[in-house]
Amino acid sequence: MHYQGERQQVIRIGKEIYQQGLVAGTWGNVSCRLKPDHYFLITPSGMPYESLQPEDLVVMDLEGNIVDGERKPSSEYRLHVRIYKERPDAGAIVHVHSPWALAYAVAYQPIPVLLEESAQVLGGPVPVARYAHAGTDELAAAACEALGKESKAVLLANHGLVGLGKNLEEALLVCIIAEKTARIGLTARLLGTVNSLSPEDVQYLHQSFRDYGQPKPKN
Ligand code: 13P
Ligand code: ZN
Repeated sequence: MHYQGERQQVIRIGKEIYQQGLVAGTWGNVSCRLKPDHYFLITPSGMPYESLQPEDLVVMDLEGNIVDGERKPSSEYRLHVRIYKERPDAGAIVHVHSPWALAYAVAYQPIPVLLEESAQVLGGPVPVARYAHAGTDELAAAACEALGKESKAVLLANHGLVGLGKNLEEALLVCIIAEKTARIGLTARLLGTVNSLSPEDVQYLHQSFRDYGQPKPKN
């Protein structure tokens, strides 16, 4: 079986979104781009994350064809295809139904940049895509329209949250930070005023975050 390493990583991220309460049951889905980069690996539709096996994952191409795998792919494969086509910077996609982000998705309000972490990881507010039924081309189009060329995440109206990253770890972190920002935003409202960071501070924090941590290996 090809792509063993990628299969293990997708399964690990799937377990993580389940264990962190970002999805209930079998909802949500996870994918990553493969080599050649018009192929991607995606979770199967409606299977429990805790018992996923490497062979349950499905290799697809950017035309929406199954390249390898016995399982029916995620019902959101159109969403993943369209994002990979329109966002060459996306190496992985994580889709969750996390509750605090969903509050904003139901209110049709973007998640503002409230925390330094939000500025560093997300780099801007999380926009809301107009409502469309799950699994449709309309949903994929609405999500990509709201994402534009810059956003790292998008809220799907009355449905969920999608995070993009250069890799699976980053796409997961994007979802975790969007969810945390939504939780803090709604909690802070109980205390009174909610203060967002200024666009200048967001830009500074996002750019300087590239140098956070240990020096990156040169390649
Ligand atoms: P799948 O189980 O088919 O991936 O669908 C879950 C989901 O979140 C649909 O939007
Ligand atoms: Zn969903």
